[in-house]
Amino acid sequence: MTDLLLTDATVLTGDPAQPVIADAVVAIAGQRIEAVGPAAALGAGFGATPRLALPGRVIVPGLVNIHTHAVLCLMRGIALDMGHAPAYTHGVPHGHEIAPDEAVALARLGALEALLFGSTVMADSYVHADLTLPAMAALGLRVFACGRIHDVDFSQVHAGVWRHDDTIGDAALAATRALIAAHHGTSGGRANVILAPHAPDTCSDRLLAKVADLARDTGLRVMIHLSQSPAENQVIRERSDTTPAALLERVGLLNDRLIAAHCIHVTSEDVARIGGAGVTVAHVPKGNATGGTMAPTPALRAAGARLALGTDNLTRT
Ligand SMILES: [Zn+2]
Repeated sequence: MTDLLLTDATVLTGDPAQPVIADAVVAIAGQRIEAVGPAAALGAGFGATPRLALPGRVIVPGLVNIHTHAVLCLMRGIALDMGHAPAYTHGVPHGHEIAPDEAVALARLGALEALLFGSTVMADSYVHADLTLPAMAALGLRVFACGRIHDVDFSQVHAGVWRHDDTIGDAALAATRALIAAHHGTSGGRANVILAPHAPDTCSDRLLAKVADLARDTGLRVMIHLSQSPAENQVIRERSDTTPAALLERVGLLNDRLIAAHCIHVTSEDVARIGGAGVTVAHVPKGNATGGTMAPTPALRAAGARLALGTDNLTRT
């Protein structure tokens, strides 16, 4: 039983066989799209069904925001030009300072902004994910979320201290397992968990290997920041004598289940590695622009990587 017809709009379908329908009808039944097609073919068949005419409007499939930290919408206008990421930056609020109720309020704001800009799916990580994941999913989005998995003390990283502590890492993994048990697949299947080790420099080799094991055990996807800054590359060179991408390959994380955000400061060997593994690169154009650096997206794509777009610290562009 059709409840509503959207008419007189242009529809972008995402279907290569018919990418644009200039004068389209979208039929909605309950919570589902029942039919999409040209008005000439569909429009006459729905009798007295309520209609909403949308002349001059374009209807698109829901967008996927492949890399966000919705809580960090609090950084808008604060941190965009202060360094490559808030976690590494002096003088801005940090994750360990954000209270649970603040995280929920900010995550809901970020998720609502994402919806307003057309995103119906978000891959998100930050703090208090046990509260922000259900709160975001309750707004109607499909959310893949996780807390930050790391074993550095994040109250020290912005001061230039990378010291790995298994106690911190094991607690993050335990919280992730609890998140999976409590929330994965809930909210009608719209709340899901993605494993989110923060970055190669904020996770020891040991912790990254444990995340790879957890990914194998659970079948969940993994999202990580990768070669976001020269500082990250330098830390990994000094700690593990390699590049961040080669380190992920060594610990078993570089595969087609990985979403790697940024991939800006990569060598040609890294590009071949990332592409050959079929990694999804979460490209963040706005972050690239404000940082004055650009990921080698044509080379990554040519090497076999999949490219997707994310907004990172913002949930809108
Ligand atoms: Zn990020």
